[in-house]
Amino acid sequence: MMRLPQHAATVLERLEHFGFEAYVVGGCVRDSLMGRTPKDWDVCTNALPEEVLRAFRKFHVIKTGLKHGTVTVMVDHQPVEVTTFRIDGAYTDNRHPDSVNFVSRVEEDLARRDFTINAMAYNPRRGLVDAFGGREDLAARAIRCVGEPDERFHEDGLRILRALRFASRYDFNIETETAHSIRRNRHLLANVSAERIFTELKGILAGEGVLSMLLGFPEVFATIIPEIQPAIGFPQKNPYHCFDVWTHTAYAVAAAPADEPLRLVMLLHDLGKPARHSVGDDGRAHFYGHPELGAQMAKDILLRLKSDNATLDRAVVLVREHDIVWPTTPAGMRRLIGRIGEENVRLLFDVQRADLAAHSDFAREKNAEGIRAAFLLFEDVLDSIPAFTVKDLPVNGADLMALGMQPGPAMRRVLEQLLQEMQDETLPAQGEPMLARAREIIATLPPNTNP
Ligand code: ATP
Ligand code: MG
Repeated sequence: MMRLPQHAATVLERLEHFGFEAYVVGGCVRDSLMGRTPKDWDVCTNALPEEVLRAFRKFHVIKTGLKHGTVTVMVDHQPVEVTTFRIDGAYTDNRHPDSVNFVSRVEEDLARRDFTINAMAYNPRRGLVDAFGGREDLAARAIRCVGEPDERFHEDGLRILRALRFASRYDFNIETETAHSIRRNRHLLANVSAERIFTELKGILAGEGVLSMLLGFPEVFATIIPEIQPAIGFPQKNPYHCFDVWTHTAYAVAAAPADEPLRLVMLLHDLGKPARHSVGDDGRAHFYGHPELGAQMAKDILLRLKSDNATLDRAVVLVREHDIVWPTTPAGMRRLIGRIGEENVRLLFDVQRADLAAHSDFAREKNAEGIRAAFLLFEDVLDSIPAFTVKDLPVNGADLMALGMQPGPAMRRVLEQLLQEMQDETLPAQGEPMLARAREIIATLPPNTNP
């Protein structure tokens, strides 16, 4: 027995009332059987799109993909996608079917779907239709292709990443034949658009099974981000590390909170290491400058993946700063917040905690205390009067103009000097003393810089 929400039940009943067959199908059946709340409810039916339109002519209907047999019916302000049973024609581009053909049996429709756990349909009067062993694979926690894996990945290369995403989201395994086929066919990802790859990648990273995916399918990740290839197996011979760069990366990703953009940052944070490797006189590996190179690489990668700007900017800053030596004074902490922003500093703590979790015990003991102390300092500084950027000063450009200055580099230098002294707490954060101090500073400026 599966509980359908009212809007989905209404769609099924209405189609049956008109003499058609209809089932909820795909993700909602899978999630219900797992005891999870489905995101949305999809319906499949033997009614043709025109017939669906007619059956729901009194409802608000959106012609989402009429060619492919899909219309969206709004019931109680909830969308239900209704798709006619179909099989896909040939796939000449490894991504999109050249045509679709409507068919009459639900089993034929289920056969075109990607994985067995996604290929089940349910109707309260007919029960579960599970032609490919989806329920068994759910119980075994396995992602398995419907049919011949090689064929299915050739039809649509995106399914390679979908397999990893579902396995990661539910912490499932990828069944052996499907896993071999994924590795063999990873080149098919070349036919998938950057936007789709990035969306799937973020989905994989956000899942609780991400560690097994990163460790089990490194070559797939190196196919979508070639910069990953040199990190795989790259040794780090020093007391701080117990893993090669990729293995360390995988553990660091898994140790980070699942929210964006942290896991993405952890995926990228050490990619500059292989190119910045050197060996010291003591025989230890060093990676001088890898955060800066990594930041440049992160930018290139995220531009290629067509990332939104906010995600890109944040990732570049956090990769660049990931190895930061934390300030130990309030003034230093204020300057750091001024330089990268409060939110990025907050995220940087998560980045460092995740990074550290994937280091050797030696490094963990050495650095954990430093992070704790820095976090206390960060909170103290946030509780005190803000002094992070010139905007926090109790005086502004207009005040300095009243003292005879013009806007320009000299004015900026005066404001920055005042900020520095306020951060150092050598100057009280009050208008009068601040203006008096501004007069002093202006008096020291060479006469030709400004009036
Ligand atoms: P999610 O919770 O991520 O939405 P979902 O299973 O609903 O999971 P969708 O991408 O919404 O996934 O697709 C709905 C259904 O359509 C899937 O369950 C699957 O049966 C089928 N499907 C989607 N994409 C593909 C594909 N690329 N190849 C084959 N079948 C697919
Ligand atoms: Mg869905």
